[in-house]
Amino acid sequence: RQSKKDEESVKAIEEGGDALEMRPATKHEKILEGRKKLPVYPYRDDFLMALKDHQVLVLVGETGSGKTTQIPQYLHEVGYSELGKIGCTQPRRVAAMSVATRVAEEMNVRVGHEVGYSIRFENCTSKKTVIQYMTDGMLLREFLTEPDLKSYSALIIDEAHERTLHTDILFGLVKDVARFRNDLKLIISSATLDAEKFSKYFDDASIFMIPGRMYPVDIYYTIAPEADYVDASIVTVLQIHISQPLDGDILVFLTGQEEIETANEILAHRTKVLGSKIAELVLCPIYANLPSEQQAKIFEKTPKGARKVVLATNIAETSLTIDGIKYVIDTGFNKETSFNAKTGMESLMVMPISQAAANQRAGRAGRTQPGKCFRLFTAYSFQNELDPNTTPEILRTNMCNVVLMLKSLGIDNLLAFDFMDAPPPETLIRALEQLYALGALNDRGELTKIGRRMAEFPLDPMLSKLRTELDRSPHNVILMVCSPLSPGKTVIVSEKYQCVSEVLSTVSMLSIGTSVFYRPKEKKVHADTARLNFARGGGGDHISLLRCYREWAETDFSPQWCFENFVQVRNMRKARDVREQLEGLCERVEVDHTMSDPDNIEAILKAITAGFFYNTARLGKSGDYETVKQRRAVYIHPSSVLAKEEPLPAWVVYFELAFTSKEFMRQVAPIEPQWLVEIAPHFYQESDVQDSKTKKMPKSK
Ligand code: ADP
Ligand code: MG
Repeated sequence: RQSKKDEESVKAIEEGGDALEMRPATKHEKILEGRKKLPVYPYRDDFLMALKDHQVLVLVGETGSGKTTQIPQYLHEVGYSELGKIGCTQPRRVAAMSVATRVAEEMNVRVGHEVGYSIRFENCTSKKTVIQYMTDGMLLREFLTEPDLKSYSALIIDEAHERTLHTDILFGLVKDVARFRNDLKLIISSATLDAEKFSKYFDDASIFMIPGRMYPVDIYYTIAPEADYVDASIVTVLQIHISQPLDGDILVFLTGQEEIETANEILAHRTKVLGSKIAELVLCPIYANLPSEQQAKIFEKTPKGARKVVLATNIAETSLTIDGIKYVIDTGFNKETSFNAKTGMESLMVMPISQAAANQRAGRAGRTQPGKCFRLFTAYSFQNELDPNTTPEILRTNMCNVVLMLKSLGIDNLLAFDFMDAPPPETLIRALEQLYALGALNDRGELTKIGRRMAEFPLDPMLSKLRTELDRSPHNVILMVCSPLSPGKTVIVSEKYQCVSEVLSTVSMLSIGTSVFYRPKEKKVHADTARLNFARGGGGDHISLLRCYREWAETDFSPQWCFENFVQVRNMRKARDVREQLEGLCERVEVDHTMSDPDNIEAILKAITAGFFYNTARLGKSGDYETVKQRRAVYIHPSSVLAKEEPLPAWVVYFELAFTSKEFMRQVAPIEPQWLVEIAPHFYQESDVQDSKTKKMPKSK
C-alpha cells in the first residue's frame, strides 16, 4: 500500500498537483539574513533604548560591525524618520556614495529615493529621502541655509576618530544646536576605543560599545627599510598569492590613484606572464575618483579558484569594509595635507601614518578569520619613527575657508569657538589676513559682500581633494595651492569683468588638472602639437584649457574630437560635470553667468589674477622666475604651453607649485604687473611692481 501511495504522490507532483512550492532565497532575502549576522544586530534594541534616554551618544565599534549601514536603518525602523531626516556624515565622498547605495539595496529601494547621498557636485536625494548620507563638508554647508538643522531628527557624525577638519568644526556646531534643540538626537560614531575624549567634549555623553569580534592578526615587518614601497607591495602580493592557501583575499594600502594604477598595471602584466602557472588574481582598485560602476566590484564575491587583491587608498582603513580579507599589506604611507602658517602654503604629500592607523589597517585582516599583516617597514621604524596617533587635520591645515564659513554663520570671536582641539592662533591670524587680502573681510574683520558670496562658493574640497587624487604625478611630488578660496573668488569677480562663462570653463578645467591631456609614448610629437594648438592666440595655460573646453563643447562633446586631439574624454566629462555644478552655484549666489565676451582674454586673466594674486612670479635678470612677494626661485613646468615660449612673459600668475627636482609652477598665464595693484590693493603696493614699469623686458630674438 505504501508503494501505491508513493506512486500517487509522484504522479501528483508530475502533474503539478499537491507538490510543495519551493524557490531559492532571493538576493534581497540573503541580504536581510546578512544584516542579522552583523555584530551590531544583537544590540539593536539596547541601543535604541539608550538613545531614548540620552540626547547624545558616543557609539564605538570595530570597523565592519554595522555602525554606518545599520544604525540609520534602525532609527528609521522605529520612526525617527517621521520626525525628520536621519543624516549620517562621512569624511569621504566614495564612502558616502557606496554606503548609501548599499543601504538602498538593503531596504530594497532606489538610491536617491528613500535613501540618498549628497556630496559636493552631486546631490542624489529627493523629497522622499529619509536617510541621507553626506560628506561632513556638505552638512557644514547646510548650516548656512538651515542653522538649526530643523529638517533632521537625528544626526550621526560617523568616523569621528578620523578628526577631519570638517568633522571637527561640525562637533562645535552640532554641540551648540543640540543645546537648544532637545528633540535632535546626536550620535558620535567612532571605530577606535579612545571614545573618552568625545564623551568628555559632549558634556560627558554616554558611551555605547559594540563588542568586536576580532581574530588574531600576525604582524610581519621588513628586515630593512624598503626604497620603493609600491614595488615592494607588488612583490609581496605575488609572494602571498603563490605561497599561501587560496582562502583569503589581499588588501594593499597605497596612497593615491597614480600608485594604485601603476600597481594594478604591473600586477596585471606579471600575472599574465605567469599565465596558468598560478591561480587567477582579481584586481580591484579603489580610490576617490574611481567611477561608481567600478567601485561596486570590490564588494563582489571572489570567484572560486581565484583570489581578490584590493588596491586601496586610506579609504579601506575604516570607511569601507570588504569581507574576506585575510592578508593586509601596509606600505605605511598616506597622503596628507600639511600647512605652513609662515608661508601660507598648504601642501598635500605622502607622509608616514601613525601607529594607531597601522593597527587599524592590520585589523582589516582579522575580521572573519585569523589573518596576517605585512608591514613594508621595519619594527624599529614602527616603534621609533611613527607618531602614536594621527594629528587632527585642524592642526595642520589652512583655516581660510573654515574661518570664512564660521564668520558667515555669525561666529565672530573665533578664539572663543568651542574646538575639541583649538588650532594654533597664528593659523587663525594667517587665515584672517588672507581673507582680508582677498577682500572677503573688511579692516574691522567683518564679512564683506564678496566674502558672503565666497562662503557660498567653496571650491576647496574640489581642488585640494578631488584634484590631487586625479593628479597623475609621481608620489614624491608636493602640490601647493595657496588659498583654497582662490577659484571661488575668481568666479565671483568674473561677473565684474563680464566673462563668467569663460571663467567657469577655465576653473572647471583647472580643477581636473594636467590629466586632461594624454601623451602616449609612441605619439608624443603629435600629442604635443595638438596641445600647442590650443595655445595659439596667447593667454598661456589657462586660456589653452579654456579653448580646449570650448572646442569640445562646440562639437557637442564628441568623444571622437577628444581622441583626435589627445584629450582624455573621461576627465573632460568630469570638467563638464564640475562646470554644470558651478553654474548652478552661480544661480544660487546670483552671479550672472550669461553676459560674456568670449574673446576678451585680458578680462579672463584679470579675473584669474583676482583669485590667484598670491601665486605670481616675475622673470629675473638671470632668466629665472622668482615669486613676487616671497622671492622664491620657481620654474615653469615643462608641461606648460609657455615652457618654450620666446620671449618668456615678464610676469605670470600660476595655479599651483609642484616640487620635484625644483619648484615648478603649473598652469601658468602671462599678466601685466599693473593689474596687481589694481586688483589686489591690500596685497600689492606700487613699489612691488615698480621696477618692471621702467625696465621693459628685452626682446630676445
Ligand atoms: P561599520 O560602519 O561599523 O564599519 P558598515 O556598516 O560599514 O560597518 O559595514 C557592515 C557590513 O556591511 C560589512 O560587513 C560590509 O562588508 C557590508 N557592506 C558595506 N557596504 C557594502 C557594499 N557596498 N556591498 C556589500 N557589502 C557591504
Ligand atoms: Mg562605518
